[in-house]
Amino acid sequence: MHRSVTLFSRTMGLVNAVVFGGRKDKKAALAPLFSYGTFQLYYNPVNDSYSITEEESAFTPLGIMQSLEATYTASYFCEVCSRLGADEHEAVFSLLSRSLAILDSNPSRHRKILIDFTWKLIQISGLATDLSSCPACEKRYEENETLFFSTQMNTPVCRNCADTDRLFLMSGSRRYLQYTLPMSLEQAFEVQLYESNQIRLRDFLLGWITAFAQGPLKTVQSGLL
Ligand SMILES: [Zn+2]
Repeated sequence: MHRSVTLFSRTMGLVNAVVFGGRKDKKAALAPLFSYGTFQLYYNPVNDSYSITEEESAFTPLGIMQSLEATYTASYFCEVCSRLGADEHEAVFSLLSRSLAILDSNPSRHRKILIDFTWKLIQISGLATDLSSCPACEKRYEENETLFFSTQMNTPVCRNCADTDRLFLMSGSRRYLQYTLPMSLEQAFEVQLYESNQIRLRDFLLGWITAFAQGPLKTVQSGLL
């Protein structure tokens, strides 16, 4: 009869709320998955809980739900923001809502928006560097050098400073990250990246975000992204 939802707000961060109502009640249609809008909440002080009383919907996804891959990608966006968005509500909210909108219009390009979303989130989280030199030993990278990863420092490093051989960043993918670093999400999404490079870069970025999340992400572990 009732639905439990998690909202992500610019000002309040994560808010758990209940949508009351039976199936025939129009309230059951409030807050569909991956939508955003303006919600009116009722706070019940007795059991310290919120319920949604009104919604003015600004975006309801239609394209995402048509594609299984896009649905998993949107689930990944939400999971990772709920884990990592605690300190930067405004910036993460903006990134999440814009990423969902791009995904909804381009569900078949789910892998590309996953890459651009993840790279922007890493920047918002303060983990991004310009990838021109190793942050551990300060050695300047060669143009075609492959980078590895330090799980201790949570950043790409040179081969000598790496503590895992599971993650690596090829030079073509590194150039893509450097090139799109100053761009907006929308601009970065329009930059072409070969399919084979996309797969390798996705694997690297998902490894990076998992290291940062300090615990497995369900959507990443599912192997469906
Ligand atoms: Zn190094």
